[in-house]
Amino acid sequence: MEITVGFYGGAGTVTGANFLLSDGTTNILVDCGLTQGKDFCDKCNFDDFEYDPKDIHALIFTHAHLDHIGRAPKLIKDGFNGGVYCTPPTEDLLTVMLADSEGILKREAERKNIPPMYSKGHVDGLLQKVETHEYHKKFEIGDFVCEFFDAGHILGSAIVRITHKQTDKSYVFTGDLGNSPSPLLPNTEVIADADYLIMESVYGDRLHEDIEHREEKLRDIILRSIERGGTLMIPAFSMERTQILLYNLSNMMEAGEIPKIPVFLDSPLAIKVTEIYKKYSKYLKQDLQGEIKKEGDIFDFDFLEKTESRDASKAILHAETPKIIIAGAGMSHGGRIQHHEMQYLDDPKSTLMIVGYQAAGSMGRVLQDGGKKVRIFNKEVPVKATIETLSGYSAHADRDNLVEFVSHTSTKLDTAFLAMGEPGPASFLAQRLHDFLDVKAIVPEKGKTYTLK
Ligand SMILES: [Zn+2]
Repeated sequence: MEITVGFYGGAGTVTGANFLLSDGTTNILVDCGLTQGKDFCDKCNFDDFEYDPKDIHALIFTHAHLDHIGRAPKLIKDGFNGGVYCTPPTEDLLTVMLADSEGILKREAERKNIPPMYSKGHVDGLLQKVETHEYHKKFEIGDFVCEFFDAGHILGSAIVRITHKQTDKSYVFTGDLGNSPSPLLPNTEVIADADYLIMESVYGDRLHEDIEHREEKLRDIILRSIERGGTLMIPAFSMERTQILLYNLSNMMEAGEIPKIPVFLDSPLAIKVTEIYKKYSKYLKQDLQGEIKKEGDIFDFDFLEKTESRDASKAILHAETPKIIIAGAGMSHGGRIQHHEMQYLDDPKSTLMIVGYQAAGSMGRVLQDGGKKVRIFNKEVPVKATIETLSGYSAHADRDNLVEFVSHTSTKLDTAFLAMGEPGPASFLAQRLHDFLDVKAIVPEKGKTYTLK
């Protein structure tokens, strides 16, 4: 018997995670994500899988970001009939994220006049197969024994440790690792007994700054924007970033650190995701449990208005300033934020606050780099608003966090495979793990299968 791991996506690139662990009898996929951002190619998302989905016995999701789940309904379309495993919050997030992306993919396919990657029926077929497992509860797939640990990245995110009954070795897939300490989530758990790590390396060569001062900076930006008297626009990703902002705003208003001005959460997806964060509040960090008990809902406050319908969204225009609008998409590459940007970017009293990574070529990046005009809905809009950048809110572990994560298992570890990172950061991290921890680290090649001892 031989244990192998194949890298079918998320090798040499951040997105599109898709790994295949096999003992020759049982085939387990870990994640099945969309390739996104500047790696985006219609071809690779629409291509046939390099294995036969009919031969796969199980699919394990580490967490509900689209670059880890977004291609999974295509597995169903192509004949996959195994079990699907994740944590309970991931199941709920999966449901809203896949419904949202199915709609986007369908509209995109119509525009390009090609058949969609999958249909709603395939999404439903996938969801019907989901079996949830809590952190620290073992479950078996063939001769493999699996267990989830908290990755601290987004709600429900998991590191999955898979041991094999015959080899007695542990194969650990990290998914994305969190940037602990997070304002909302427990710290990333330590894994001390990995023989093989298949780990992320997004920020393998970078350090995050400002983590301690992020809340002060947020407060200062809000106060400056209120002084200008206009609208503060915050393009934000609907999962995690939005909930952190709501939690921070709620506390700052409560403490009298910022004036009580209207805040609009203008994103149907973010509204749904926030409900899931509320439902699973016992998965949030221990320090918050007292607040949750007292307040019930730590994401809601008197001056927050959730605008689900289009009409409610349009009515924000008539609300008095100063006001705050949180809306997707996080890189201003679509979604309702564009309507507000169209309205307020040419207003010198307004502010746009960037809270996340802005990919090269995105409109958010143009704004962040000081662009004087942008095109929205085919119209040129001059940028007169103040553009502010808030750092320190990354959901990913940085270079030092990643080295520390490996240090806990370095004496037992045989090999670390550095996936889910660009070649530069992944190689940098490989060198560092070798130099600092004497660990053998490999940057895997896409499409290649490695035999594990
Ligand atoms: Zn992620």
